[in-house]
Amino acid sequence: MNNVFDDFLNWTCQNPWGVEQQFSRQLSNDTQLTIWDSGILLAEPEQAGNKDIIISCAVHGNETAPIEICRDIIQDIIAEQQPVKHRTLFIIANPASINADRRFIDENMNRLFSGAHSKGDNTSPEGQRAAKIESYVERFYTQAPAGKRQRFHYDLHTAIRDSKREKFAVYPYTHGKPHSQEQLQFLLACGVDTVLLNQAPTTTFSYFSAHQFDAHAFTVELGKVRPFGENRREDFAAAEKALRELIGQADPTLAPFKPEQHQIFAEAQTINREHQDFELNFADQTANFTAFNKGDVLAFDGGNEVRALHDNEHIIFPNARVALGHRALLTVVRVPTESLELI
Ligand code: ZN
Repeated sequence: MNNVFDDFLNWTCQNPWGVEQQFSRQLSNDTQLTIWDSGILLAEPEQAGNKDIIISCAVHGNETAPIEICRDIIQDIIAEQQPVKHRTLFIIANPASINADRRFIDENMNRLFSGAHSKGDNTSPEGQRAAKIESYVERFYTQAPAGKRQRFHYDLHTAIRDSKREKFAVYPYTHGKPHSQEQLQFLLACGVDTVLLNQAPTTTFSYFSAHQFDAHAFTVELGKVRPFGENRREDFAAAEKALRELIGQADPTLAPFKPEQHQIFAEAQTINREHQDFELNFADQTANFTAFNKGDVLAFDGGNEVRALHDNEHIIFPNARVALGHRALLTVVRVPTESLELI
């Protein structure tokens, strides 16, 4: 089954809902590669460093740039061009949606984690895949060598719409724990200077790793969706370089922390679609991070007007066509970096 390793992404897409068998290969540089399932590849050096790193892509199948980045890093590991100093798990989350060139097949996979996949009578293929992915994350973190270890998970995405801030990361809710200064510096090295702080639990993949396994975990938005082969890879070069250094070096050096280099936003409102007749009060193509002022009407939900509560309230991820009860819009406001409790 050499072709499994020769073109891991292709093989994954040929088996979009998974295979039970495991495949492994030892490279001449003593990196052990093991495939646990379609889209799930573990790279483990014989003398593993103290980090356990997860890099995931294709939670949304039409977000091509992160898939290309993972594909290239994996190919370089297999070709022994990319060193591996720490245990690293690659996850190509939803290959069926890559095949269909769609964000998802039945359900938005990034609303299915932390057990949401098995609420009610949910037996969708995406729900089952999310449940399996959770078990692989658990296996990866809990099978790590003994000792003091650091856990990381970068879940890579690209946005559907234009954004006034092209790259941004979502920092999952920490339940009151301090935020990590080193992680802000790592995100900056990835070209990401804008960070949204979630203020409540979510059912995203990154919150699952952060909350269940105390990992430094982030949803990282790297730019705008384009078809395969049409991504301007130089736009993603900083992120790819930082990820390659994280995997390939014992402890890559990060630039010193300067608060003014970071743009931190906190959630102001989560606006759910509660009625069938729901409309956003701005044009469909309005860019992420467009600002509204206090009192501006953002949406009509049934008979109700939903208004901005603050001046300079920025909209993110608007989508009027979500299922009833789901988030149609998030709004955020800038907070001073100095106001964060950092560790
Ligand atoms: Zn996405």
